[in-house]
Amino acid sequence: MSPLADRYGRRFPYLRLSVIPACNFRCTYCLPHGYHADPHAAQPLSLAEIARLLRGFAELGMHKLRITGGEPSVRHDLTEVLRTAAAAPGVTKLAMTTNGSLLSRRLHEWMDAGLNAINVSVDSLDRANFARITGHDRLDDILHGVDMALGAGMASVKLNAVLLRGVNDGELPAWLDYLRERRIGLRFIELMQTGDNLAFFRDRHVRAELLETQLLESGWQLLPRAADAGPAREYRHADYAGRIGIIAPYSKDFCSGCNRLRVTATGDLRLCLFGEFGIPLRPLLQADEQLEDLVRAIGGQIGRKEQGHFLHEGRTGITPHLASTGG
Ligand code: SAM
Ligand code: SF4
Repeated sequence: MSPLADRYGRRFPYLRLSVIPACNFRCTYCLPHGYHADPHAAQPLSLAEIARLLRGFAELGMHKLRITGGEPSVRHDLTEVLRTAAAAPGVTKLAMTTNGSLLSRRLHEWMDAGLNAINVSVDSLDRANFARITGHDRLDDILHGVDMALGAGMASVKLNAVLLRGVNDGELPAWLDYLRERRIGLRFIELMQTGDNLAFFRDRHVRAELLETQLLESGWQLLPRAADAGPAREYRHADYAGRIGIIAPYSKDFCSGCNRLRVTATGDLRLCLFGEFGIPLRPLLQADEQLEDLVRAIGGQIGRKEQGHFLHEGRTGITPHLASTGG
């Protein structure tokens, strides 16, 4: 089977799999009132269903896999999920995005299971600000976990910080101090509008370009975009061990570098974070013999992927918040 490609010539070697919609944090831009379980909602995919799903994507050329959520570490069998994912054929990079609340306690267990890349969400280096944004006064322990991951030789350690106007958009000097000696990729992410956060978005959205101007003025250099790179614009500076990436979903051509597909915790394929529909794959994950049907179903849907999102028009699709799809 040849690798997946869509009508616009984009290829999709990268799958982001949500393993649970629940989260223990209350980030102001995502789940400001915390996670509330829907008693009628289906359970997240089982380990056997995940294994079959990944086999299907592997047939279609997937080799980078990110485990996300909700908060993946809220799932009690996360280590088994990671082991299952690492054993999937073709997976060379197994990454996870986490709020880091269990990182210092579980890092070694996760690495032993095969995790080799981690993105930790750290929206502020200021303890009080971090607590205000996430609802949890956990910054010190989370940063300790990040340093442990670096010390343990994790192949890739990245931090995600969502830019919020008037809240954390003045912290570049603190971040530069932090990055001077640490081999970390910091990603500043521009706040995205979702179904639930319109008022917050109007209040707090700030264009990432403003930050990029500051970086260029301080001698940071934009790296040429690698052919297989995702949508982040990467900057480096000779005086710093760390790098800075900018994820600016409202910038022109953002979607032309799209290289990823998503599957929700209950097995719906999402062609775009802000798409209008999900495609239920779960019925095709019930027996090993369904592999061919699964591969055909995924391949048959890829032609429906739009060239770009419609966020500029305020159209957020069926995504109420990113915890629901795995941001
Ligand atoms: N709970 C994990 C975490 O926070 O890292 C994983 C799931 S979270 C939805 C994935 C990433 O999406 C996080 O870095 C988070 O900050 C980011 N995110 C959530 N809502 C967002 C929004 N409205 N705009 C931009 N980024 C957002
Ligand atoms: Fe939870 Fe991540 Fe959303 Fe924060 S961004 S509320 S940690 S899912």
